Order: sequence, then C-alpha cells, then structure tokens
Amino acid sequence: MKKKGLISTCIILCCAIVLATVTGISFNKKRNFVEDIVVGSNVKGTFKLDEYNENLKGTIGDVDVYVLKGEEEGGKVLVLGGTHANEPAGHMAAIVILEQFQVSKGTVYVIPNICQSGLTHNDPLEGTPQYLHFTTKNGDVRTFHFGSRASNPIDQWPDPDTYLHTSGDWTSAKVSPDVNTTQTLSGSEVRNQNRCYPGIADGTVTERVSYAVTNMINTLKIDMVIDLHESSPEYAVNNAIVAHQDALSLASDTVLQLGDRDILLRIEPSPAALRGLTHRELGDYTDAYALLCEVGNPSQGRFRGYTDEALAITGKDPCYTDAYAINGGALLYVDYSSGDFPLSLRVARHVATVAQLIDSMNFEVDDEARSVIVDNFPDPDAIKEFYDEMVAADDLGLYLN
Ligand SMILES: [Zn+2]
Repeated sequence: MKKKGLISTCIILCCAIVLATVTGISFNKKRNFVEDIVVGSNVKGTFKLDEYNENLKGTIGDVDVYVLKGEEEGGKVLVLGGTHANEPAGHMAAIVILEQFQVSKGTVYVIPNICQSGLTHNDPLEGTPQYLHFTTKNGDVRTFHFGSRASNPIDQWPDPDTYLHTSGDWTSAKVSPDVNTTQTLSGSEVRNQNRCYPGIADGTVTERVSYAVTNMINTLKIDMVIDLHESSPEYAVNNAIVAHQDALSLASDTVLQLGDRDILLRIEPSPAALRGLTHRELGDYTDAYALLCEVGNPSQGRFRGYTDEALAITGKDPCYTDAYAINGGALLYVDYSSGDFPLSLRVARHVATVAQLIDSMNFEVDDEARSVIVDNFPDPDAIKEFYDEMVAADDLGLYLN
C-alpha cells in the first residue's frame, strides 16, 4: 500500500516538473522575444525613453521612441501604441504609422510598445494567443506579440489590495486645487499603463513610463498626443475618439471629416473625474491636445468563443454573430453584420483617424509654424482612399516593411 502511494506521488511529481518546464520555456521565450521594427528612410532617428526619466534605465520600460521628421520645421505629434497589449490594433497601427508615414513638415514621434512589459506575457485564464504573424509583400513572415492588458508581474510585484492613483508631484494651472486628482482602483490596476498617468519619476516601472511620456510632451512642447486602443464590441466607448476638453473641437472636426467619407466614429468627452488615463492626465498636465482612439476587438470581448490567432486577425466569431442577431445588433457597438471585424479594418480605422487628427490639428491651430504634413495624406479624400484600399486588401502584411 505504502509502495503504491509512493509510485503515484512520483508520477504526479514528474508530471508537475514536465508541465512547469514546458510552460516555463514558453513563458521565458515570450519574455525575451524582441519584435523587429523595420525602419525605413522616413525614420530620421530614435532615442530611448529614459531621456525623459533616468529611472527607466535598465528597466523593461526603457523603450525606443521613433522620430519621423520632415525637412521643414513644424508642429509635433506623439502616437502611443501598445498601451494595452491585448488590443493588437493599437500596437499594429502604431507600427504601420512608423513604417509608412512620410512626414515632410514637423515631427511625428511614435512609441509602438509603450507598455513593453505587458507585451511579454498573457492574461491568465483568457486563452489568448501569444503571437500574431503577418506575411509581407516579399514573403517575409513577421511576428508580433499579443500581450496582456497589464504590465508583467515579473516587473512589478506584488499588487496592493487597492491602488491609490495620485498625480505625484505634478501641478498644472489647468487643474484647480479643489479637484480631487486621486482615485482608488482595484489593486491590479497598479499595472495598467492607462491608469498611471501623469506618472511618478521613481514609482513602479509602469508609473515611471507614464512620467517619462508626460515629461517628454512638456519638454519637447508636443502639440498633440494620440493613444491607440481597442475595446470589446459590447463596450459603449467603441469606434470612438475620447477627447480631453481642450481637444474636443479638433476631434469633432475629425469625426465630421471622416463621417462625410463613411468612416463613422463617435466622440466621447474625457470625464474629469476619471483619473490616470492619457486623455485626462496628458490633457491636464501638458499643453498637448490629448486624445484616445477605440475600435472594436472581438478577441477581447466577453461574448467571444474559441480564442486564437485567427480570431485576433479575422475578428470572425460565431458567438458575436449570434449576439449581433439579438435585437437587431442592439447588444453591440460595432457593425457586425458581415460576421467579422478584421484587424486590417481596425488598423485602417486607427491609421485614418491619426492622419485626419493631424489634418484637423493643422486647421485648429491655424499656425504654419505648428503644422504637420504627412505626404501620404494631403487631404481627407486621400485618407479615405488609403482606408478603402487597406480594408479591401484585408492583409495587414502588405502594410508592413
Ligand atoms: Zn485599451
């Protein structure tokens, strides 16, 4: 009897060791996988984010900032991708922008992986893919992370029971001392990049990254910051631009220009009491127009069925087709009549929105010295043309170098 017990204990122990080894190798491989960014002649340089917070040196948050600079001086725009690494359109749109935008006037800074830590792991129990693969025009396969909503616990542990967000040492003439800039959130939100703005210089790695972004915008006098996201199709803030009150006018122009060309977006004012988010804190603590873009991602929603790379790329899910059939689509905030919502369409929406926001910013500031010109997108009709081509091609690989 004793011998039998010993044998089963050994078998269980061996299985546990094999399981831990296999998952450990997989975890470690993802942790160390570095995405290739193929820089073209449009990128005039890169620098590390630690230039704006030296406490990032040697941490996973010390990411590259890509500089797309025109011959002529002008305004400055910052594009953030990968804030939430389980929202691939935000990450991939930033990569398409940095590989494709031909800037002839002003500067576009792109950080495609602002939460690099979040890209290096997956959310437990969500069954999401680890990677996405795309084949480029000349047949190369490029691999990108599908990550987690939050920073990796390896970089920041343990989470507190409750996370008390604060604005740290930041002050701003735009924020009245009467305004409560603290917010109590659930403990895991301490690893949510988009709850940690304006950031703390020597805080957690997530807070340090946010601090560097805020400091970079103030130091470089950046005119507009755009943070690219995705959300569940059943979430109301979808296919939308969330705008700080100072950016509402230019966001409205973008919604009208794109709407005229059948690219429909909602506009959402940034709630003043919702602290820690880019569209609130970067608008309050810098002079930049602060905007956040959302597009519907079926691989992120709670109605979704089997979750794999195909779902992330095609957005095709019979569970969402069923959900859309109820009450004439009233359960969803995206048009799911085609039975899919592909990544190429979601990225096209983001790229078109960023291009149009730049055009609308030029109109809003009405100052040649602060305008930004992207040669691929001379006017709203050219943006629509690019959008239509990208949606029709339905192949993101064609837009990667
Ligand atoms: Zn998000």
